[in-house]
Amino acid sequence: MRRDVLPTPCYIIDEAKLQSNLKLLHYVEQESGCHILLAQKAFSCFAVYPLIAQYLSGTTASGLYEARLGHEEFRKENHVFAPAYEPGEFEELCLICDHILFNSFNQLEKYRSVWEKAKVSVGIRVNPEHSTQGDHAIYDPCAPGSRLGVTAGNFRPDLLSGVEGLHFHTLCEQNFDDLLSTFSAFEEKFGKYLLQMKWLNLGGGHHITREDYDVEGLIALIRRIREKYNVEVYLEPGEAIALQAGWLDTEVMDIVDNDMKILILDASAACHMPDVLEMPYRPPLKDAGRIGEKPFGYRLSSRTCLAGDVIGDYSFDHEIQIGERITFEDMAIYSMVKNNTFNGMPLPAIAIQHKDGDCQLIRQFGYEDFKCRLS
Ligand SMILES: *Cc1c(COP(=O)(O)O)cnc(C)c1O
Repeated sequence: MRRDVLPTPCYIIDEAKLQSNLKLLHYVEQESGCHILLAQKAFSCFAVYPLIAQYLSGTTASGLYEARLGHEEFRKENHVFAPAYEPGEFEELCLICDHILFNSFNQLEKYRSVWEKAKVSVGIRVNPEHSTQGDHAIYDPCAPGSRLGVTAGNFRPDLLSGVEGLHFHTLCEQNFDDLLSTFSAFEEKFGKYLLQMKWLNLGGGHHITREDYDVEGLIALIRRIREKYNVEVYLEPGEAIALQAGWLDTEVMDIVDNDMKILILDASAACHMPDVLEMPYRPPLKDAGRIGEKPFGYRLSSRTCLAGDVIGDYSFDHEIQIGERITFEDMAIYSMVKNNTFNGMPLPAIAIQHKDGDCQLIRQFGYEDFKCRLS
């Protein structure tokens, strides 16, 4: 169907861009000999898992439900990391995952008798204590007091029997230079243990599909690690897989005035793009600029009751009319996976724009999707 007849609000996956991201990631796998996993936390739109599975080695999960999704819909390598596991969950994870990561030696020992009997390869997440994220403390697992990963001071070489891998995840939307300095910090503290491992997982946060990313630097580092330590190397990016590969189309429902013109949209920052408020950031908007750049300026907000449900201020070349559609860009990642129905807002539909431009509506939601979670 044509894009302009899809219901709104609607997430639209850009199949062409997704595929071009996947081709680049596949090139990294081929040239470096590493394995790339989809971090489902960022993007779990499983309608396109068959496409992603043509290019990547598998999935990684933050817990049982994502692990089940990867097992059911992706069906390649399936890894999981969580700061703590429930006994029932852990038994099930051993059946559907091939790699299980622990955040502490406590958890490793708690489940030793289970994983030693299972067909899984286990690893420990470490904290290289090397912050590279400036003022983004909420996304920095190396920040002081972080619960994520074992520090060198708490590392227990005496408990490594049966442990086959090490893992660190410290980056967020970063380039290769930060990976390189993090790897050096990791190597200094944990390199001696890596020599006895089968694999190393470099986590996510690598913005590999961003235009300025140093892909060749990454390939060279992975080759060097594989040669020096004789380990398999995993990367588990989320963002990089569907970066710039989706939109959120929304309709202007009303325009109000209070010293400025304010658009009331059927999409909401609080419900449909929570990172706009959490991170916070200003999402890119198609054919729009900053206030003052173009003649017609507006504040974009939503139809929830939250005063602060404001997406940002933008300017346009033409005067916006009620009923018009506008398009937020880069809305595939950390959007659908974070949706909520606060205020009883409807969840956006999900569509795919195929390479020939034709759109396919794959999912719509209704009142039951709101009600079923409330009692
Ligand atoms: C969030 C996360 C990822 C994916 O991060 P992106 O920033 O989306 O690339 C990978 N691994 C772990 C352990 C994570 O917590």
